[in-house]
Amino acid sequence: MPNKDQLLLQIKEEVVNLKESPLYDFRLKNKNFPVIGEGDHNAKIIFVGEAPGKNEAETGRPFCGASGRVLTELIESIGLKREDVYITNVVKDRPPENRDPSPEEIKIYGPFLDRQVEIIKPKVIATLGRYSMAYTMNKFGLETELKSISQIHGKIFEPKNGLKIIPLYHPAVALYQNSLKSEMFKDFKIIKEFIWKEY
Ligand code: URA
Repeated sequence: MPNKDQLLLQIKEEVVNLKESPLYDFRLKNKNFPVIGEGDHNAKIIFVGEAPGKNEAETGRPFCGASGRVLTELIESIGLKREDVYITNVVKDRPPENRDPSPEEIKIYGPFLDRQVEIIKPKVIATLGRYSMAYTMNKFGLETELKSISQIHGKIFEPKNGLKIIPLYHPAVALYQNSLKSEMFKDFKIIKEFIWKEY
């Protein structure tokens, strides 16, 4: 039986060779990398963003640019380090012009996220932004609870015993809407209240 590291490596190999993706040629042309995810393979919390941006595609690391700095700050505000959690995205390749991921792209890459969640078995999935929120809530049968992110950010959903889903604003929001930054810190305080007993 392969262990977690081997199963996650298998996902990486499949994504590297995902020729059927509409983003595959763009990745090759730009000599970019797919961004699979990084962090603790036994993390109690997974953060799920939307898709890599330019910095991420150039390095193969999730959230390593300006919004990544905000995410790191938020994670550290609850006494954790990036290495304590797992950070990934729904879509594993960068869409051109940093546009929003398309439904087709989400459909192709979503199953890789599903497998990462099954392998890591987190207690909490914290979604970052509306696409990962919609994907994850639909996946776990929460479609009737799905509302705009301004209505449900920071709320805790429990689709099944032992798993919590918490929708959060995308960290990039803090870069252009300073007033929401304090909301984001409040949402992370909510996570802190229940995640600490897991660590
Ligand atoms: N935005 C995302 O959604 N994901 C990243 O990895 C970087 C920026």
